[in-house]
Amino acid sequence: MPGFELFGEKERHEVNKVLDTGVLMRYGFDGMRQGQWKALELETALARRMGTRYAQLVSSGTAALTVAMASAGVGAGDEVILPTFTFVASFEAVLALGALPILVDIDDTLTLDPEAVEKAITTKTKVVMPVHMCGSMADLSALRSICEKYKLLLLEDACQAIGGTYEGKPLGSYGDVGCFSFDYVKTITCGEGGALITNNESIKKNADHFSDHGHDHVGNDRGAEGHPFLGYNYRISELNAAVGVAQLERLDEFLALQKKHYSILRDAISNIPGVTFRRVPEGGEENYSFLNFFMADEHIARNTHKALSEAGIDGCFYWFDNNWHYVKKWDHLKNLNSLGPIAKEVRAQLPDYHKMDFSASHHWMGRNISLLIKIGWTEKEVRDRGENIKAVLSKGV
Ligand SMILES: *Cc1c(COP(=O)(O)O)cnc(C)c1O
Repeated sequence: MPGFELFGEKERHEVNKVLDTGVLMRYGFDGMRQGQWKALELETALARRMGTRYAQLVSSGTAALTVAMASAGVGAGDEVILPTFTFVASFEAVLALGALPILVDIDDTLTLDPEAVEKAITTKTKVVMPVHMCGSMADLSALRSICEKYKLLLLEDACQAIGGTYEGKPLGSYGDVGCFSFDYVKTITCGEGGALITNNESIKKNADHFSDHGHDHVGNDRGAEGHPFLGYNYRISELNAAVGVAQLERLDEFLALQKKHYSILRDAISNIPGVTFRRVPEGGEENYSFLNFFMADEHIARNTHKALSEAGIDGCFYWFDNNWHYVKKWDHLKNLNSLGPIAKEVRAQLPDYHKMDFSASHHWMGRNISLLIKIGWTEKEVRDRGENIKAVLSKGV
């Protein structure tokens, strides 16, 4: 997945153009910047690549989720449905707005189970947030039907899945709004950064203002701009955006490498008894950033993961025991440990996460092993890796 593996001349060249002007800020300083508007350039290129009308760059993927929801009018007391397998950023963004994260089971796609989503809907539900973990998507057509039926916002967290598609559309562009992260370990990276994409004019306009203190960006005198509503600072810098411009140009090159390496590894382990693969919904194509498979049960999966590590195979994840990505270890959320008090209205409306039954998620996550696909490997390295993994899996545990 990590784009940082292949930094080069293009990135350096784009960054130098910014350093030559000295304007590191994305807005204003029109006279000094000699025509360099890297954040704007990346927004235009991203919207074009994703086939959406608009893109808004922000400072991180977490910021993209926060800004996307705020721009759609999500706030205090609104319920946001999200999966038990995600990155902590998903519920952080919801809580930052005073909204309520409602965790819902995943299925063998390792993303939101549409039936579980429908059961979780209440009169307070505003958003359904599928998270395309490890490069593959939820059944988006089922989720869209649910969202249409109940008039909910479909927000795709595509932070780990840039370049994947569903029904021929780039992931992130299928729902009402989609979010990407360009943090240091994502498929394309600019150090820290993120973006949202949408065809919705009011979401774009709100996101543009909200991510820059509510400035309306009318005219080129920042002192004279209006502030139609409150905002925060979620801006990206021109330096980060410059790296992003170069990386986005290389996205298809990176995706082709990911797919090639994924296919070699998958072929190597595809005929081993007891090994099955994650389901990709019909009409979907992964971005191949991870290869996910299931062992027969939790005990075998845990032992297999240990055996893979002992055999020196790096980049193998057993997410079931991981405290960043799976509900089982999110004690800080379950106990609502926060620095300051959480508003009593929020506290009173949140579910008791300790008491929720996520056995359907545990069933899949307990059996899952995930292999990170790197793009910097040589073909020989990938083939040797495939043989080594096959040897460990074939031996049985
Ligand atoms: C990385 C990631 C985020 C957050 O992105 P940052 O840029 O690190 O803030 C959100 N959701 C998912 C699924 C991620 O993997």
